[in-house]
Amino acid sequence: MPSDSPTAAPVTAAIRRSAGRSVTAEAGDYRVVALCDGHVDFDLSRLPGVAVEDARPAAAPHGVDAGDLAVSVNAFAIVGPDRTYLVDSGNGSIRGPGLGHLLRALTDAGLRPEDVDAVLTTHMHGDHVAGLYDGDRSVFPNAELVVSEAERAFWDAPEQLSEMQRGQLDMARRGFATHAGRTTLVNPGDEPVPGVAVVALPGHTPGHVGYRVGGPDPLLIWGDVVHLPALQMAHPEWYFAFDVDPETAIATRRRILDEVAADGIRVTGAHVPFPGFARVERAGDGYLYRPIDGAG
Ligand SMILES: [Zn+2]
Repeated sequence: MPSDSPTAAPVTAAIRRSAGRSVTAEAGDYRVVALCDGHVDFDLSRLPGVAVEDARPAAAPHGVDAGDLAVSVNAFAIVGPDRTYLVDSGNGSIRGPGLGHLLRALTDAGLRPEDVDAVLTTHMHGDHVAGLYDGDRSVFPNAELVVSEAERAFWDAPEQLSEMQRGQLDMARRGFATHAGRTTLVNPGDEPVPGVAVVALPGHTPGHVGYRVGGPDPLLIWGDVVHLPALQMAHPEWYFAFDVDPETAIATRRRILDEVAADGIRVTGAHVPFPGFARVERAGDGYLYRPIDGAG
């Protein structure tokens, strides 16, 4: 189905018209601004082993047609009184017209690329880092690049990469090369910026991490833990073809969903329907994803 189809289900239609938008929530001392880079159309072949007759009834109650899927591509700004950080940087100029609108979203939020003091990356796949560079220069002239040590090690050993992951290698390398001399390696538990902690989320890639913005009502930006809430909240065992280690990705998803449901922690992520701010509840053997409004 073409992406401008007027018949797309409501959640999917909204995903397809959010490019370039920004939505703000408050977290601790920061404003967290969801920035929509665009979307990618999806079909069930991206979820290995999932049959359409199982997926359709799972998705329908959530306003999604499992035969016509799309995922958002989101990045986030974390804006403090005198410092501004990004979490991921979108697709840049790499792919199609539906992607690469991060800078428009940044403008929508009243921010400029030169305002960004650091880019905190969840992992080095192209839809998260290709927006870091334009040719051989950084799009963010004043930004330090923050990457987990395990993620750096993964891309530094290309002989271990599957063919699918190897397709991302050039983008990961360009991300590193355009920030040579201003890259900081971090580990889970570190606070690369005050009040924002690195959270281990291995599986999608070995060094995949999230960022937890602390305060009285914390917010976890969980990267690629969930691509399709309409399917994976009820079925956390449904994994994404791009996961480097599906078993670990599934275990991480269950662990994080348990934690945020038990602790009432707000979440959002790179591929949940823009802007993604939500709370998670337990529901039977699975979970429910309850979107909440941004605050302003
Ligand atoms: Zn991704």
